[in-house]
Amino acid sequence: MFGIWGHEKAAELTYYGLHAQQHRGQEGTGIVVSDGETLKLHKGLGLVNDVFKHANFKELQGRAAIGHVRYSTLGDKGTEVDSVQPLLFRSQTTSIAFAHSGNIMNAHALRRELEDSGSILQTSTDTEVLAHLIKRSTQANTEDAIVEALQKIAGAYTFIILKEDKMYVTTDPHGIRPLSIGKIGEAYVVASETSAFDLVGATFEREVLPGELIVISEEGLKSIRFAMREQRKLCAMEYVYLSRPDSDLNHVNVHASRKKMGKELAKESPVEADVVTGVPDSSISAAIGYAEQSGLPYEMGIIKNRYIGRTFIQPSQELREQGVKMKLSPVRGIVEGKRVVMIDDSIVRGTTCKRIVRLLREAGAVEVHVRIASPPIENPCFYGIDMSTKKELIAANNSLDALCEMIGADSLAYLSVEGMEKAIVRDKTIHQGICSACMTGKYPVTVSGE
Ligand code: 5GP
Ligand code: SF4
Ligand code: MG
Repeated sequence: MFGIWGHEKAAELTYYGLHAQQHRGQEGTGIVVSDGETLKLHKGLGLVNDVFKHANFKELQGRAAIGHVRYSTLGDKGTEVDSVQPLLFRSQTTSIAFAHSGNIMNAHALRRELEDSGSILQTSTDTEVLAHLIKRSTQANTEDAIVEALQKIAGAYTFIILKEDKMYVTTDPHGIRPLSIGKIGEAYVVASETSAFDLVGATFEREVLPGELIVISEEGLKSIRFAMREQRKLCAMEYVYLSRPDSDLNHVNVHASRKKMGKELAKESPVEADVVTGVPDSSISAAIGYAEQSGLPYEMGIIKNRYIGRTFIQPSQELREQGVKMKLSPVRGIVEGKRVVMIDDSIVRGTTCKRIVRLLREAGAVEVHVRIASPPIENPCFYGIDMSTKKELIAANNSLDALCEMIGADSLAYLSVEGMEKAIVRDKTIHQGICSACMTGKYPVTVSGE
């Protein structure tokens, strides 16, 4: 997500801000801009570059804008343009637009309640539920209506909400998904990842706090705490896989944390080998760390075709498998006759690992030792990463030995939870914690009946 307030080129900068975060979602994208009186929307299915290729930025005039790239975890799997965000709702007097990242866990129950009392929902996304809760609120102003609505929803979320004259920015009480605020001159910018700030020339100010609602308007910035201070539970997978290496989360740089995960992994699970290689792009940092710690050379044993999107993010297993084949190639000159340590950041369904071990062997590697720079993922995620059932998680259903055999490796080892925490938690005081429920089963938010 990206938002900007108080800048002549709001829509253009949002376009760049989305570009820097394209890795977070590739199914669809959109921008809503406000000129102070009306909201205008342009959105479509596909990548930022495709959807905005023909967008007429002259028509997207205004000093405030919000944008979104979609990665569906609830609702339809990226095939309906209606579900592409921002969602824009118009009424006779005013309009409101929503960009959301995360998962509203009680969306089904709330949807049922809303429908029973007469609301007609237009999309299958959980995001729309918040819009209806706000609309039905009897509070006098939008701010109070948003707070009331937020108190009814549970899960992991960050929202950027735009009205003609105000922008609202919020993070769930545990701060599971990241969201930061920056400035360009007098203008405010908001982004899921700080990589977006660098691209638009903004400076980082601070992160949105867990349970905080920030209202941005002509009067400046106002902060409201709508939930008790809880310990921060930032998603560990943001570090492991999802975020860009140049982003900082909780004041920890993502590349640096991955490199440290690789180092911890080398300490915990060393192996006699000739070269270390990583699966591009997300495992390169960890592979460099592993190599540095072990004293083995880091080599580019696998290269990536950069014209193909992230494999995991494709909505169906079929597309994912095809994606891996088209995406990665072994470098024969480097791996032939060698004992290779192959670092991947994580194993979810096992598609990537299995394929790469085979590719490396076909290219002449004599041994392939797989080292995973995160703990086994044995539990589903309900907070906005697309792994919501236990049966799809290969580590949940197989022993380490069985898994090693399935992927065809000579040996397999994972990083421990302690090793991961050492790499990403600065200190364990309030607001510094992480969510690692998919690895540990300790869920920060649960909803009974869901
Ligand atoms: P697998 O191929 O085992 O299903 O997925 C593992 C690969 O997908 C890893 O190489 C990793 O880079 C990527 N991946 C792992 N976890 C996640 C995740 O939670 N979200 C996304 N989008 N990709 C992931
Ligand atoms: Fe992230 Fe895992 Fe927690 Fe989901 S369960 S928010 S993927 S750490
Ligand atoms: Mg990967």
